[in-house]
Amino acid sequence: MKPLITGIHHITAIAGNAQANIDFYTGILGLRLVKKTINFDAPDVYHFYFGDELGNPGTVFTTFPFQGARKGTKGLGELTYTAFSIAKDSLDFWRARLEKYGVAISDTLTRFGEQLIRFEDHDGMGIELVANDQDPRTGWTYGKIPLEYSIKGFYGATLYLKAKELTAKLLTEHMNYRFIDQEGSRFRYGTEGKPGDIVDILVDPQGNRGMQSAGTVHHIAFRTANESTQLEIQKILMENGYLVTEVKDRNYFKSIYFREPGGVLFEIATDEPGFAIDEEEAHLGELIKLPEWAEPSREKIEKGLTPVELNYQNYE
Ligand code: ZN
Repeated sequence: MKPLITGIHHITAIAGNAQANIDFYTGILGLRLVKKTINFDAPDVYHFYFGDELGNPGTVFTTFPFQGARKGTKGLGELTYTAFSIAKDSLDFWRARLEKYGVAISDTLTRFGEQLIRFEDHDGMGIELVANDQDPRTGWTYGKIPLEYSIKGFYGATLYLKAKELTAKLLTEHMNYRFIDQEGSRFRYGTEGKPGDIVDILVDPQGNRGMQSAGTVHHIAFRTANESTQLEIQKILMENGYLVTEVKDRNYFKSIYFREPGGVLFEIATDEPGFAIDEEEAHLGELIKLPEWAEPSREKIEKGLTPVELNYQNYE
């Protein structure tokens, strides 16, 4: 039987300016804007989905841009760094590209034997690019970034926590994760331990709590195959005392949410049906798509949203 959870589905962050957000992720990083919709819980705010060609699970970084939102701070109880996967010899390319666009980059770091660089987007959102030869995914690009250097999807995520025990127990006993390795106070977990499923817990008993606002992650979603596997995992989590929400229809997937013991909001999202249910694959992300219940208010909703455009062609 296929395991109930098979890695990361998407990661969702809070952003500030919507246009700057689109420019950073499509223009500089070269991810595809696969869906432009609204925050279903706050219809006056956009919800952008960036990913590979189809927004496959494990590639999708999503944002809620709140114009004028003050910057949050990274801290305990947060997912502090989202790591994307790139091919092994791509770091020089990315270093040059990020420098060209004025992004301050860390020195090259080594973690579990792999090299990575770390930087922040314009809101302070923590991003890492991990160079590795473990990722068979081809990646995707609008054309300005050579395919061999393109982002392939997520590598993994860092949860910055005061202690690891309860979160590790949740991951390993109920979410199909296993302990992979330890380096200092960083503990690595994976379903298979491959790019796209890695979760690192960075333990710091002395750290400060973070403040969630622009430039911080709102939640991480783990992937499950379909609605029936989702109900199975919901039942298991509830039986073990986690306060799990009812199933919510996110149009492109179904979701349940709960807070893990370290403070990070977890979601379990279905692989089905995906982003091609309301737009053709060749035109993903071009129009503002609304869930059926919001269509009657489209005029009012669109009036409340600042128009945005795709400028990736301006990023050589
Ligand atoms: Zn989500």
